[in-house]
Amino acid sequence: MTDHPSVTDVVPDVAPADLAAPTRDGPLATAQAQLASAVERLGYDPGMHAMLGTSRREINVAIPLRRDDGSTELFHGFRVQHNVSRGPGKGGLRFHPSVDVDEVRALAMWMTWKCAVVELPYGGAKGGVAIDPRHYSQGELERVTRRYTSEIMPMIGPERDIMAPDVGTDAQTMAWVMDTYSVNKGYTIPGVVTGKPLEVGGSLGRATATSRGVVHCVVAALAEHGKTLDDVSAAVQGFGKVGSHAAAFLAEGGARVEAVSDQYGGVYRSGGLDLPRLMDYVERTGSVVDFDGGEPIDNTALLSLDVDVLVPAAVEGVLDAETAGQVQARWVVEGANGPTTPDGDRVLADRGVVVVPDILANAGGVVVSYFEWVQAQQAYWWTEAEIEQRLAERMAMAFESVGKTARHRDLSLRDAALLLSIQRVATAHQTRGLYP
Ligand code: NAD
Repeated sequence: MTDHPSVTDVVPDVAPADLAAPTRDGPLATAQAQLASAVERLGYDPGMHAMLGTSRREINVAIPLRRDDGSTELFHGFRVQHNVSRGPGKGGLRFHPSVDVDEVRALAMWMTWKCAVVELPYGGAKGGVAIDPRHYSQGELERVTRRYTSEIMPMIGPERDIMAPDVGTDAQTMAWVMDTYSVNKGYTIPGVVTGKPLEVGGSLGRATATSRGVVHCVVAALAEHGKTLDDVSAAVQGFGKVGSHAAAFLAEGGARVEAVSDQYGGVYRSGGLDLPRLMDYVERTGSVVDFDGGEPIDNTALLSLDVDVLVPAAVEGVLDAETAGQVQARWVVEGANGPTTPDGDRVLADRGVVVVPDILANAGGVVVSYFEWVQAQQAYWWTEAEIEQRLAERMAMAFESVGKTARHRDLSLRDAALLLSIQRVATAHQTRGLYP
């Protein structure tokens, strides 16, 4: 990778003191605060802290787009590899207007911990383009995706950095990335992305894997308190790839899903929504708003609903000190990445709310991405039943080891998951040694 001039190795230039006391709000401040407290608990020195807190490689690209009307527009894109001590970088590609390099850095760091918590042989990476995909045609999005891919080409590959869908991107986006990469290399290389359509080497079960993993975590967390899905009500914020299927699986499992929302608004029905009918409605209209099987509810009200389980599955930072103070749910299972700020976390802990952290709760997607990559490397495809069984086993194993660490060290599930994963990354780094 160092053979290409447009890719720079980033020298850690952030003093550990800055890492420990981030001054800004936002996902990177949250990620750095989480790391600082784990490093303190683990007793690592400032050198190790700086290594763990700094992206290994970052690339910043300009993406000119020829629009359908002939005009030109310029977008900014990023790819960040946070850590590759345990294997190639792995992480999604986000298309959202608020994408910036700090958000991508935070998401890449969380991917490192997530892959370590479920023991995948990957490091962490993330990419993003600051664009609102709703305002562009499919042809325009294809051109943006292909140009972005070609700009970051030296940094990615099945052994280097493997992309997947995230907010604002989907299986089709991954097919364009895979095709662009393959055409440039001269042969088909399905392992450069996961979350592809089945026709071009995708895996059965990938599209719903994150949501299944969320529901495995809900079930495991309830079981610790002698409850099952039949005993609980739930609310899900975000009705996209993660939230919609998580809501549907919760309902299939017997939970009463009383409210769901998207960025346009939400819908509530005491006793539970009719999820199959709601999913049909969203398929037709693009939003949960005005669904006739419930009453309108806004996103803030949804977070404070009197339900047992709350699944934030939309964007970062929605549970801050104020909104967390109003949460009535006993379990918060984080489908989204970084939905709870450090202040929000403290408030939830003080109030006795059990939080299953993002790096564990939404790891199902990257687990099945790993299965997809393994299948692509072997050109041998597993059945859906095999995939779902292996996913369930891996989520149960990870939940068990995080739970055990939490009990032994008297930590929250988030602190335990961070401690375990950061320790695994640091151990890999120490075992490999420092070059030169
Ligand atoms: P998506 O784009 O498919 O869906 C996002 C949903 O959130 C949409 O319903 C959107 O309307 C809603 N939303 C956006 N802004 C909102 C707001 N301010 N308030 C309420 N709702 C809002 O994205 P996704 O893939 O479902 O990802 C959701 C979250 O899950 C992200 O944090 C993502 O990083 C995380 N995640 C996704 C995966 C995956 O496999 N897709 C895996 C792990 C984590």
